[in-house]
Amino acid sequence: MPVDGIRPAPGATPPADVIVRNARIHTGDDRLPEATAVAVRDGLFTAVGDDATIAGQVGPDTRVVDALGRRVIPGLNDSHLHVIRGGRNYLLELRWDGVPSLSAGLAMLAEQARRTPPGEWIRVVGGWSTEQMAEQRMPTISELNAAAPDTPVFVLHLYQSALLNRAALAAVGYGKDTPNPPGGEIVRDHAGNPTGLLLAAPTAILLYQTLAKGPMLSKADQIVSTRHFLRELNRFGLTSAMDAAGGFQSFPDDYAAVMELAKRGELSLRISYYLFPQVPGQELDDLRRWTATVHPGDGDEWLRCAGAGETLVWAGLDYENFREPRPELHARAWTDVDAAVRLLLDHGWGFRIHATYGETISRYLDVFEKIAADGGWPGSGWFFDHAETVTQRGLDRIAALGGAISVQNRMMFQGRAFAERYGAEMARSAPPLRAMLDTGLVVGAGTDATRVSSYNPWLSLAWLVTGRTLSGLSLYPARNRMDRETALRLYTSGSAQLTGENEVKGTITAGKYADLAVLSADYFAVADENIARIESLLTVTGGTIVYAAAEYEGLDVPLPPVSPAWSPVARFGGYQAPGGGGLPPGVTQGLDIAGAAAESADQMTWRQARGLAPAGVPDQRLYQAGPLPGCL
Ligand SMILES: [Zn+2]
Repeated sequence: MPVDGIRPAPGATPPADVIVRNARIHTGDDRLPEATAVAVRDGLFTAVGDDATIAGQVGPDTRVVDALGRRVIPGLNDSHLHVIRGGRNYLLELRWDGVPSLSAGLAMLAEQARRTPPGEWIRVVGGWSTEQMAEQRMPTISELNAAAPDTPVFVLHLYQSALLNRAALAAVGYGKDTPNPPGGEIVRDHAGNPTGLLLAAPTAILLYQTLAKGPMLSKADQIVSTRHFLRELNRFGLTSAMDAAGGFQSFPDDYAAVMELAKRGELSLRISYYLFPQVPGQELDDLRRWTATVHPGDGDEWLRCAGAGETLVWAGLDYENFREPRPELHARAWTDVDAAVRLLLDHGWGFRIHATYGETISRYLDVFEKIAADGGWPGSGWFFDHAETVTQRGLDRIAALGGAISVQNRMMFQGRAFAERYGAEMARSAPPLRAMLDTGLVVGAGTDATRVSSYNPWLSLAWLVTGRTLSGLSLYPARNRMDRETALRLYTSGSAQLTGENEVKGTITAGKYADLAVLSADYFAVADENIARIESLLTVTGGTIVYAAAEYEGLDVPLPPVSPAWSPVARFGGYQAPGGGGLPPGVTQGLDIAGAAAESADQMTWRQARGLAPAGVPDQRLYQAGPLPGCL
């Protein structure tokens, strides 16, 4: 299947750095939807076509990866991931992401308690929901006390609640006289003493403030932690993420680790970040300072400031605690939002806005339309995040102002709570995925990890395709679900469009960044229930192999060891794959052993024919281990 205009003239093209061949490539590019081989040089795709087309680009130093007939997709791009804050804290956290039962989670906790030195905490900070647990419930405080009698334990469940064991309550010093902060509740027993349960009622600030009382990683370990977190994201085929900042994520202090990694050229994931004022009442001061000193676009293709958000003004933030009624936002918020948006637009800044409810979106649009009526509305470069209950009228107004939407699988984690409060009928279009596309809006996909959803993008892709929660509750009718190709498009080129980077990423196209993933199972062929089990076996970002497993193990850039050594990640890793341990799930799917062996022989013959392997010598490796630029 040689492709006109892509096939290189023989001898005219310098050798590739990396070639992936024998693949089933879904390019995402309508001009050439399917291919079997790609060539990469200097971090870019240089050719996309079939194995014969690409063969001319193999040189003595080219690393040739045999995909063994596996599915290859463009690198995934999570449009809403608190990746910088998540990276800073990753090695401090025990992740319950993917843990199938509370009993398994508590066993992890008990083991971690024995590994944790005095003075340190155990934190389970989101990424899980009672919906995934066989027991369908939260742990009790006494279960936490039994698992960790002496070590402080903090367990965050969505933005709904946090549980502290006895040792954690003592560590934070909450007692009978500790007042409830606005929007939060410290639950108390008959005698008025805190029980250890904290509720977001409905704001999560109490939960965050309490978490912030624990010890942090050292600056040096935050760098190591960030590298390990980015590698964990690469494990699922992510090559880009849009950082939504978040509470307790102050610019520029809390950005030191990613900035240092960017300076060293050690980021394995591209990050576009948005700036989020941290102090209620002082938001405009922050925005004025930033617009005077930072410019959207500052940075490079690996780490770039993309604008402001997901919060501009705290009073305009509607927390999505579906166990609590929808918050009524104070009228004062809109004066400040008006001033903030005008300031940003005056300085050419784009922005993103957290808005869960249609009512909130409508208030924001009132402000935006007033500004637009005064002239100078940019037409694009802004979008809403979440939008679970946006109305059709809201979608039309967003479209009229050139806005877009970033959606996340938060309903997968809390759809049951939503349906219990608002009814199954309202849940059917929360969010109205199909209507967003039918309205012609650009939509990017993501997770809202790490404190609400898990960062595993395959959960979110499964949610877009099946419309089911983690407990299997079916939320959406077929008309509000996506076919797999559309879901993947949202997670690649949709997200890239939100940052205006669709000319350089989102599809496997010659000239774009060489970002791709070789999958453990064919996303387009597996049963619905197996979409969430897919992982990447080989992830390439900018031509560098940033994650490698199974046959490819050892090809990825080495990482420094986990530090501190007692980190839960050193013992448990991150996302707990179903089945646990051994090869990633799906490694053997798609191709049986005999098929893989035949492909291996085919690869050997192919390499021998090009003088890349000695004739007649059996080769156990499925790739040619030449030096890889940028990999040292
Ligand atoms: Zn948000």
